[in-house]
Amino acid sequence: MPETRSVTTSPLLKQRLAHVEQRIREAEIRFGRSPGSVKLLPVSKTRPVADIEQLTRAGYRAFGESYLQEALGKQKELTVLGLEWHFIGPIQSNKTQPIAQHFDWVHSVDREKIARRLSTQRPSELPPLNVCLQTNISSEATKSGIDLDQLPVLAACVARLPGLRLRGLMAIPARESDFERQRAAFRHLREAFDALNTDGLALDTLSMGMSGDLEAAIAEGATLVRVGSDIFGPRN
Ligand SMILES: *Cc1c(COP(=O)(O)O)cnc(C)c1O
Repeated sequence: MPETRSVTTSPLLKQRLAHVEQRIREAEIRFGRSPGSVKLLPVSKTRPVADIEQLTRAGYRAFGESYLQEALGKQKELTVLGLEWHFIGPIQSNKTQPIAQHFDWVHSVDREKIARRLSTQRPSELPPLNVCLQTNISSEATKSGIDLDQLPVLAACVARLPGLRLRGLMAIPARESDFERQRAAFRHLREAFDALNTDGLALDTLSMGMSGDLEAAIAEGATLVRVGSDIFGPRN
């Protein structure tokens, strides 16, 4: 078990975090969202455990990671803190078992085969794995995610899997600097989300918005924004 290290909080990290929190609050007000209705998920991929520890001092308990081996190493070091881990990276089918065993959430489920494996491999002593379906809203062949027209069938399938709890949708739209165009992409995801709820699924999580587009995502109804570089600094 690691000893409790004394962690000095970097003033720069504190300042960046405060700025992101302020952007979220301002966007909530500006777009008529209830105060506190948008959750900030810090994305700690490529960052050392010391950075995660610093954020826990600021009250954060949930972290997003994209690379399995890296995430498992950090989880081991930080076991004593009892954090909530969100897997947000691409999933290869031969990696589903450790994901099912070691994460609380997966945002990047985009096909039935992966969903079935995660459900079967979820340990029975744990609560069902919270799942968002990654959806392709930019219609680029290179982007991962299920196409919007196939989403309802996948959602209906995942909703019935006993090891999973379908919570919502996630998307990573193509990078776009124009605010209205950012909004238009997120609007597609929100409309798909609303349609699934109208069909009777009780989805509560719209995981959309990152460092460069979180305001547009909040404008369109994001309930969770995933932010890495604007909190921790640029990745190399
Ligand atoms: C890296 C990553 C983020 C964070 O991106 P930033 O632009 O650094 O805020 C969010 N979501 C996913 C799926 C990512 O892989």
